[in-house]
Formats: sequence, C-alpha cells, structure tokens
Amino acid sequence: MILGKTLESWCTRYPLIRELIALQETTWFNPGVAPVAQALTDTGLTDADVADASARLDRFAAYLRVAFPETEGSAGIIESDIQPMTHLHPLLAERYGQSLNGALWLKRDSHLPISGSIKARGGIYEVLKQAEVLALAGGLLTLDDDYALLHSDKARAFFGQYKIAVGSTGNLGMSIGIMGAALGFQVTVHMSADARQWKKDKLRSHGVTVVEYQSDYSVAVAQGRQQAESDPSCHFVDDENSVNLFLGYAVAGERLKQQLAAAQISVDEQHPLFVYLPCGVGGAPGGVAFGLKLAFGDAVHCIFAEPTHSPCMLLGVYTGLHDEVSVQDFGIDNVTAADGLAVGRASGFVGKAMQRMLDGFYTVSDEEMYSLLALMERSEGLRLEPSALAGVPGFARVQAEQQGYLTRAGLSPQAMNNATHLIWATGGNMVPADEMDAYLAKGRELLG
Ligand SMILES: *Cc1c(COP(=O)(O)O)cnc(C)c1O
Repeated sequence: MILGKTLESWCTRYPLIRELIALQETTWFNPGVAPVAQALTDTGLTDADVADASARLDRFAAYLRVAFPETEGSAGIIESDIQPMTHLHPLLAERYGQSLNGALWLKRDSHLPISGSIKARGGIYEVLKQAEVLALAGGLLTLDDDYALLHSDKARAFFGQYKIAVGSTGNLGMSIGIMGAALGFQVTVHMSADARQWKKDKLRSHGVTVVEYQSDYSVAVAQGRQQAESDPSCHFVDDENSVNLFLGYAVAGERLKQQLAAAQISVDEQHPLFVYLPCGVGGAPGGVAFGLKLAFGDAVHCIFAEPTHSPCMLLGVYTGLHDEVSVQDFGIDNVTAADGLAVGRASGFVGKAMQRMLDGFYTVSDEEMYSLLALMERSEGLRLEPSALAGVPGFARVQAEQQGYLTRAGLSPQAMNNATHLIWATGGNMVPADEMDAYLAKGRELLG
C-alpha cells in the first residue's frame, strides 16, 4: 500500500508509473502548464526578489575577486559562458535516428568558478546572504562598504562564532563548504552514501567537518537539520525548502538573457528557447527555470531531466503528490552514478511552486549518461560529470512530438526551425583526472 492505495490502483490512475518502475526511459509533457502571467504567483516570489539577490551578488563581487582570484576576470561575478554544440548536434541526430532542427547550445555551469557546478549559484548565494545578515547586524559591515573588507582576519574571527550546516550528495556541500570556510564559518556537511570520496577529501582539506552516512540524501538532510535545530548559532541550508537557494539560482535568467542577446540569438514566440535542466531535489533547476520565465516569459520552455533510478520530480508532479511520495515507495532504488541527481524525494516547495511553469520531464539511464559523456568529450572536447549529461537527450525528446506536445504548446514547424535548445551542463570541472578517465573509459566502452 502506498498512501492508502494499492500499487495497482496507482498504476491504473497514472499509467506512466509502470514505465518508471520498470526503469524505462520515460518522457512526460505536462498538460498542466499555464501562461507565465498566471503561474508566476504560485511561487510567492517576484522579479523584485530576484533583483534583490542579484544586487547582493553584485555587492559581494568586490569580496569574491580578492578571496577567489579565479573570479578576477569576471570582476567577482560567478557566471559561466554558453557554447554552440556544432559537432555534437549531428551526432545526436544520428544516435537518436531523428532529424533535429534548431540550434544546439550548452550552458557551461560545469566550469563555474569556485566549485565547478551549478551549486556555485544557489549554494554560494545562501552563504553570502547569511554572512551579510550577520555582518550587518554585528556592525562589521554597512551596505555602502567595499565588501573586500570581509577578506580579513577580523571578519574571519567574527564569522568563526557562527556555524553553517548542510546535507548533500556532494556538490552543494562543496559550494557551501568552500565558501563558508573562506569566510571563516564553522561548516559541517552531512554527506549521503553516494557522495564521492574526493569531494569529502577536498572539503576536509578546507577545514570543513564532513559527517558521512550510510543512507541516501534525504537521511543526510534530515540529520543535518536535526543537529542544526538544537544550535541557535547554526544556520541550516535546507536544500529541500530554501527560498534563498532558489533565488540564487534564479539570477541565472537575466544573465542568460544578456548572453543570448550578445550572441545575437533572438528569443520570442517565433524563436522559442528550450532549456534542459538536470534535476535532483529540484532547487537548482527550479530556481533557474523561475529566473528564465521572468526573463523570457512564455517564449522559454523548461524541461527537467532525471535518472531512471531517481525520477522523484517527475513522480511528484505527475501524481500531484510532490514530497508526499518517494521513488522508494514505488520500489525504485534511487541508486545512480549521477550523484548530483540521486534524490528519492523531491522538494515540495519547488514542485508546487513550479508545476505550472515546466513543460516536461524525462528520465535517462545511467548507461546513456555515460555514453553521452564520452560523446561530448569526443565531439566537443568537454569533460562533464554524469549528471551534467542528463540534459542532452531533451533536444531529441521534445522533437519526437510525443503526446502531441509541440502541437499543444502551439509550436509550429517554422518556430521549431528557429528554435534555440540549451543543455544546462551542471557540473564536471572539479572532477579529478583519474575519476574523469574512469568515466570516459566507461562511456567509450558503451559507445563501442
Ligand atoms: C545538484 C545538482 C543538480 C540538480 O540540482 P538540484 O537542486 O538537486 O535539483 C544537477 N547537476 C549537478 C551536477 C548537481 O550537482
């Protein structure tokens, strides 16, 4: 029994659950999608909230450029570039046996400074916000100061009185840990069993306390939350519910808009933009999608990608049960090589806030992510971690006209010819060379 009903009755009511349980690659286009003008209010957030987050990141730029010299070139702004996928495009058409129209691009969050993954957006933003709140209240800082003054022993001693804790499959812990430790916070990262050893080692080398669990992500988060609750000096970064994380991610929308304009790429009703976002708990893709909707309105179509073993957001939105169910409730094991996506229960906040703004959801097998990892390296010379490849098949899935998606969304063949498709590559740059070689070897073997 699952929430009082038999598995059989769930499957009768929601037939795609059968495919999910069988670990088949599945695509679901969301019939509940609504115009942005109607759906935006579901989030309880507005463009003013995103502008506030963006302004805060601008204030911290003066600090980041001195504390992390790798951000000097971007004047302390943590941003990634976009890159055309000219070589990969024809190989995907061949692989999926489909003609694939439109232009294919990649967003290189894999190469974001400081922590080499999409978590360098939300995770770092939440630490900076907490630092600002404390520093303003403690008289260490005013809003008009040059924030470079935070790169000092005095500031580190001040932040050393406070703690930050987070539960993570790896990358969020890396962002929170590296940023928090640099400011001087006492940081504890609660890591799930699937987190890679090198991430734990790296965090410890930064002076971060790493607590390891034999269970999955949800347990690591719950344990972290519990420990933090009993300690008033501790701020818990709640990956399942945090509005701050969400807003940190959302800033990407306006930034991408500038980048596309600079590349002379139009986005409007006749030139739609499709964005493929790998999804774990949902905070990162949800926040980015929110920012994209604010920036491009109904001209942007956001699609989430999950591993076949961890389809928590698809399951939650499709059934409307959100965080009331986990994939494990349906006998799906949540074991995947895509460690950033190994989440069995989706964020209830993101699912409910974003369900009318997301065009679709699909799952990808681990084998496919590894194969695409090798194909990406072979064609474009880019090295990404398995999770970051989940967005690639989206380019083909939307064009297969399954469930009448394109027709229903009012996307004409003409508009599809003019479309831009953007794969959000969420991580990879920090993976050690020997780990990457092992990923590549596995992928090349699968490619044959
Ligand atoms: C965390 C992560 C994601 C997904 O972010 P969520 O907020 O968990 O949905 C995607 N890719 C990588 C590499 C990640 O680390």
